[in-house]
Amino acid sequence: MFNFDHPNSSQLKKINRYRPAGTPEYTSEEIYSVAIAATNNILSHSNMVWGENSLKAMTKAFLGQDFLLNHSWEDAKQSIGFIYDSQRIDTPNPPPWYLDGLDSVQKQSSRKIVKQQGYSTIILYAAIEASHPAVSMILYGRSKDVSVGGLASGDYICPLCQISFKDENCPHLPPHPFLLMWLADDEDANFAPYYINDGFYNGVELSVVVDGNCAAARVISQADLEYFEEVVPT
Ligand SMILES: [Zn+2]
Repeated sequence: MFNFDHPNSSQLKKINRYRPAGTPEYTSEEIYSVAIAATNNILSHSNMVWGENSLKAMTKAFLGQDFLLNHSWEDAKQSIGFIYDSQRIDTPNPPPWYLDGLDSVQKQSSRKIVKQQGYSTIILYAAIEASHPAVSMILYGRSKDVSVGGLASGDYICPLCQISFKDENCPHLPPHPFLLMWLADDEDANFAPYYINDGFYNGVELSVVVDGNCAAARVISQADLEYFEEVVPT
């Protein structure tokens, strides 16, 4: 089902559920559908990992939400389409590129997570008007990275203690980049290798960006497809 093309009949049916009430149904020629690996369960550039509750919520949280450029929450004109379908893929085997862009500590922690929990990806499917300039932007690979935007009000969990960093029984600090910078010279600062952001998640938008916080989040390429076809036999 992964593609960047005019939607097939089952995709078109899902897309049409989101059109404004009373308007004529979209035809396949009017729309492009694009499959995007939106996020996953390993470390981001900011040392954050989505917890299971957040990932579960995210599987449904983006349905009907905007497909935007550059997280432009203040500018509705930057919307290029909407999300009409989602899918979560869980497998023990991560894709060959899953550690690309991460530093050595982030790679080590990510390998550990995959060993314990397997690799999870959330795939989002976006619909764009076929005549919109964003179609050629994506079609010709000028923009491929993406980033999710939402309201997360979960707790920050320490992966070493499996309790909130706020709990006095956890002696660690969450390794936010700004905290790492701020306490760089403090020898007593006891940072955990990453922090788990877990709890309520309300999806607002998926954005096309130059480089997002989740290194593997991108429009599924022809090369990526080999991996996904293997984990999701068609
Ligand atoms: Zn701890």
